[in-house]
Amino acid sequence: MQKLIEGLHRFQSEVFTAQRDLFTRLSQGQSPEVMFITCSDSRISPTLITQTQPGDMFVMRNAGNIVPPYGTGANGEDATIEFALVGLRVRHIVICGHSHCGAMKGLLHPEMLETLPAMKTWLKHAEPTRKIMDANYQHLHDNALVTATAEENVLTQLENLRTHPAVLERLERRELTLHGWVYKLETGQMFNYDHAVGQFTPLVRPEPQLLHEVERAVG
Ligand SMILES: [Zn+2]
Repeated sequence: MQKLIEGLHRFQSEVFTAQRDLFTRLSQGQSPEVMFITCSDSRISPTLITQTQPGDMFVMRNAGNIVPPYGTGANGEDATIEFALVGLRVRHIVICGHSHCGAMKGLLHPEMLETLPAMKTWLKHAEPTRKIMDANYQHLHDNALVTATAEENVLTQLENLRTHPAVLERLERRELTLHGWVYKLETGQMFNYDHAVGQFTPLVRPEPQLLHEVERAVG
């Protein structure tokens, strides 16, 4: 906790003062263009990896970046999505999964969840992902399997997102675009689901030299 307290001191004495205009403006209200739905994993910092500012993204996080289908009792998620669309009128929703996701490992290995009954119940919202993995990904193992699960799960959760009335209404009026992303912890790369080719492709291609260095570091 000491790290947090020292950080708060540094934020107030250095960062807040330097960006006082931004924070004064934000105190009047927010109008983020993007809703960003991602995993609670401590290794993902949405504003850091997208280099955005406070006020740019309306963020919803939970274990496994899951969007329960509308009306299945997940009141927090239902209300947060409704407010993003009706209250804030966001134009984009990104669902961002990630490599090495503990929730995806739990989905693949339910025996790991014996001491986590609430997680076991929560992951029922990702059951279609598990069925797809069982049927089509028997050839993958370890990290490759977890990353593929994170990718398929992003697509499952995009489907669940479309069961929300506010989402459907905005999509029909062409006022909303949905995006499926997967973040690779080990390279810092973001992959986007490309509907045209039916697969995830790098959203930003890093400089060749940088990619070489990252790959060498990762092994
Ligand atoms: Zn995760």
